[in-house]
Amino acid sequence: MTERFTPRVIPILDQRDPGMVLAQAALAPSSRSGATQGELTDTLGRNLRDLRISVTDKCNFRCSYCMPKEVFGKDYPYLPHASLLSFEEITRIAQQFVRHGVQKIRLTGGEPLLRKNIEVLIAQLAALRTPQGKPIDLTLTTNGSLLARKAWALKAAGLQRVTVSLDGLDDAVFRGMNDVDFPVARVLDGIRAAQDAGLGPIKVNMVVKRGVNDHEMIPMARHFKGSGMVLRFIEYMDVGATNGWRMDDVLPSAQVIERLRAEWPLIALAPNSPGETAQRWGFANAEGGHDTQAGEVGVISSVTQAFCGDCNRARLTTEGQLYLCLFARQGHDLRSLVRSGANDADIAAAIGHIWHGRSDRYSELRASMPPDSAVAGTTDPRRAEMSYIGG
Ligand code: SAM
Repeated sequence: MTERFTPRVIPILDQRDPGMVLAQAALAPSSRSGATQGELTDTLGRNLRDLRISVTDKCNFRCSYCMPKEVFGKDYPYLPHASLLSFEEITRIAQQFVRHGVQKIRLTGGEPLLRKNIEVLIAQLAALRTPQGKPIDLTLTTNGSLLARKAWALKAAGLQRVTVSLDGLDDAVFRGMNDVDFPVARVLDGIRAAQDAGLGPIKVNMVVKRGVNDHEMIPMARHFKGSGMVLRFIEYMDVGATNGWRMDDVLPSAQVIERLRAEWPLIALAPNSPGETAQRWGFANAEGGHDTQAGEVGVISSVTQAFCGDCNRARLTTEGQLYLCLFARQGHDLRSLVRSGANDADIAAAIGHIWHGRSDRYSELRASMPPDSAVAGTTDPRRAEMSYIGG
């Protein structure tokens, strides 16, 4: 049996750990009033805006770049149910994040639609309000396999939109990439159901692996052009320690854009919001302006053009570890805090202290390393897997 990745966790209540110094300070009555709500800024001046919550570490796909079959086999020891945050615990923690300026929550995993009764959690999160009384932007990332069945229930529960992962339109290529022989037609049915249910604007994410599915980029762009959906090409990332990442497998976004430009004229578009992960490119009209009917594509270049400078994201794992970077080796143990009887102010104060101490900028540091150095590859077994931390 494959040995399971063991996350390194900063146990907030462990007095022997330096993390405790932070958490203790957060819990001290004198610091409570100032840290329990309001905007948070980290050591690099970045605000907290976006929370990604992983609701399961399980997935029904075995994409080799994420959950390779050889590692995530049938004996793989997934987290036991008791260690998962309950919906009430997730909502309570999320509420404290919203008090601290989070405006957007994305549910992810693993495959989030595998979590039983996910609609119940969605309804609870949809009821959250910012300190200004506004609803949060609530979305979910899915492989689309269960969308056709669930889209309407998700919408009824209060989900606003979805992002669907799809790595190609060619059935053989897609079945090969998901490695469970799942047909592309069923994901396309799921996307259609999401559109019909009003879960838009829909984004479609395609991870591009050089020599594996890069020939699918143009057919994908052609398919989604003019559909109202935004296709985004993601550079294959060195996340986790099991996918055997090599720089040679990455197709840099600059080359993605070059290939698209050989088919269509494109113009660069301004970001929709600060900290947006994708760079936007619009299909151009005859006058060189943006053809809004044709729409746009995006590229997410976390390998070749790191965007740590305005990263406003935090990640809550299935078992309640708070990660401040997708590439972090350690999480902060919010579950123990919640289960030890902490009140809402205590939780909010701990989040405040953790964010104030944040200095992660892994992708920028990696960019300054030789491509095959230990830090710039998946040779570090302490790295958290994407399926654990939440994509
Ligand atoms: N199961 C859901 C899905 O397929 O969208 C949510 C979780 S998945 C980990 C989230 C996203 O991360 C997917 O779009 C997936 O393709 C992407 N992803 C996983 N591993 C990646 C890697 N090594 N590089 C780039 N993207 C990756």
